[in-house]
Amino acid sequence: MLNGKNALVTGASRGIGRAIALELAGKGANVAINYAGNEAKAQEVAQEVENLGGRALTIQADVADESEVKEMVKQVTKEFGSLDILINNAGITRDNLLMRMKEDEFDQVINTNLKGVFVCTKAVTRQMMKQKAGKIVNVASIVGVSGNPGQANYVAAKAGVIGFTKSTAKELASRNILVNAVAPGFITTDMTDKLSEDQKEEMLPMIPLRRLGTPQNVADVVRFLVSDDAEYITGQTIHIDGGMVM
Ligand code: NAD
Repeated sequence: MLNGKNALVTGASRGIGRAIALELAGKGANVAINYAGNEAKAQEVAQEVENLGGRALTIQADVADESEVKEMVKQVTKEFGSLDILINNAGITRDNLLMRMKEDEFDQVINTNLKGVFVCTKAVTRQMMKQKAGKIVNVASIVGVSGNPGQANYVAAKAGVIGFTKSTAKELASRNILVNAVAPGFITTDMTDKLSEDQKEEMLPMIPLRRLGTPQNVADVVRFLVSDDAEYITGQTIHIDGGMVM
């Protein structure tokens, strides 16, 4: 289904990014695994991609650093020959109540979660324009739609990602570059493992499907969005949240 396609997934050494990398590889894609610091984990994912039959590359780069990202995109394009799919997945949280939130906590989250999407999209779009085709999926969050106390920085960034998705979808449609977003709800990963069992239990009544999501639930929708089955979908944000936000 994705045979011969070349993908770059940011923040792919664990969690949702890892699941997306493996899902795309399982459908025939070659995958470049971007990571921030944990090379050993990124290598493990690369090995798993190769076991599934795809080619894999691991590349360390801070998604918010334009020169590192340009270099990364150059390397992927050189090794794979083209770049057909970008998944902007890398993200961080620095939760705090507004009155306690430090400027640095705000800046770090906006830089990684929003500026990172801009920097990676711009670098990859240059290549996709030459190819006259491309698929981009941004990993937002349902809190970017609903808001969440204690996460003003994260919510502002994710709402920004949803707006950025719509603008770039309109701007790049004439170039045959499709841009969509997914908005996960409560997904079990290292990011959410910080919460206590009690906090997780408290979430359940808010989820109509009464269960937490898995990284694979997100990866399945991303695979659909980058496939030929989604050729007429652009600028959309698909909620993967068990019905939390309607
Ligand atoms: P995670 O913390 O397990 O993974 C995030 C990955 O991003 C890590 O591998 C990390 O090293 C990488 N990363 C962080 N900063 C980076 C940088 N500057 N450059 C490159 N890589 C960087 O979290 P996750 O739950 O897998 O989150 C993946 C995405 O899904 C994030 O964008 C997150 O905001 C979003 N999301 C997660 C949930 C959830 O419930 N887990 C819900 C909604 C949205």
